[in-house]
Amino acid sequence: MERRRANICGVYADTFTFEDAVRYAEGISGQVVTLNPEMINNAVKNSDFRQIVNEAELVIPDGIGVKIGLKILGESVDRIAGVEFARHLIEKFAYNGKSVAFLGAKSEILQKTIQNIELQIPDINIVFAHDGYYDDEEEIINGLKSAKPDLLLVALGSPKQEEFIYKMKTELPQTLMIGVGGSFDVWSGVIKRAPVIYRKLGLEWLYRTVKEPKRFKRIFPALPLFILRVFNEKLFGDKNVRTK
Ligand code: UDP
Repeated sequence: MERRRANICGVYADTFTFEDAVRYAEGISGQVVTLNPEMINNAVKNSDFRQIVNEAELVIPDGIGVKIGLKILGESVDRIAGVEFARHLIEKFAYNGKSVAFLGAKSEILQKTIQNIELQIPDINIVFAHDGYYDDEEEIINGLKSAKPDLLLVALGSPKQEEFIYKMKTELPQTLMIGVGGSFDVWSGVIKRAPVIYRKLGLEWLYRTVKEPKRFKRIFPALPLFILRVFNEKLFGDKNVRTK
């Protein structure tokens, strides 16, 4: 399967459908980025972060903002919710007898996530799990290196999770690693995803912001700034598509 990537403010996002993205991810190792508007804003300001995203083996347009931004630039893509995408990958890997590792979130959230996933997928082979509040990164890296998981889910928030995974690419060359943000919070059952109607209307962000008002402070300035950037690119930038 060929990658076809669309440029959005200097960041390249893959344009796969959900099913193709899952199929593609099953056949590769390396870094999967679940791209949202805040990350694009960050990539515009920070060239190291931009390099991490642009060197990722797969970049899925998570967040309705990325879909809208690409639409403004003339690209129609599926929105691929990272939380659903990662959950599909766990299932696929588990059913194929491949091992899985979890890194991130608060300890009790991680425990509940693992409990729930083991209930739902009894055959899963979890070879490593650690919460995301540690002092000794070396210990985590060594633990992962000896566990050699086939799939690693990293929930440290952005950009921490992307930076961590980027560093791990040389340490775990056979592993598929995906930064999943707040997904453990969802899988643990502590945070509920928006009802289907909100998701269908592309309003999951609104539901989550109302439920978790502290997100508002973070998300609100990011979205208008992002949309401005996209219009600026539409009017003055070049919108090339990359095939690789
Ligand atoms: N997190 C962590 N270690 C840290 C910072 C954050 O494990 O040093 C976890 C946090 O507990 C949460 C996840 O990272 O489970 C992502 O949080 P956030 O709400 O920022 O995710 P997003 O909004 O990107 O989905």
